[in-house]
Amino acid sequence: MSDCIFCKIVAGEIPSNRVWEDDRVLAFRDLNPMAPTHVLVVPKKHIANLAEAGQLADEDLAACLRGCAKVAELEGLTQGFRVVSNCGPHACQSVQHLHFHVLGGKQLSEKMD
Ligand code: 5GP
Ligand code: ZN
Repeated sequence: MSDCIFCKIVAGEIPSNRVWEDDRVLAFRDLNPMAPTHVLVVPKKHIANLAEAGQLADEDLAACLRGCAKVAELEGLTQGFRVVSNCGPHACQSVQHLHFHVLGGKQLSEKMD
């Protein structure tokens, strides 16, 4: 997707603070962190969000979730962490490339909304 900001980050056309990557997934720090650790895990292939999960290979989807666990390990989130994927307008999704927020490093709110 030529006009997708996260595709450009994956391609290295826009700089990012990379935390981890493999051949399927890239993890980089969120520009506006909401927690001491706030990392975005994205598939290197473009889909808009989880509603389009059927368009992504199972291996890529699984790699995203394993990538979240890997980030938590690398960031030392031994007390726990939260994974969030906003999907569509009701969830306030602002970047239309599937991504998982990995949040941790502090006591997070019980509220999920
Ligand atoms: P969403 O609201 O779609 O779930 O999350 C998008 C996230 O992407 C936001 O937390 C926002 O701070 C982050 N973001 C937007 N543009 C950039 C960027 O150019 N670089 C990085 N590292 N994060 C970005
Ligand atoms: Zn994209």
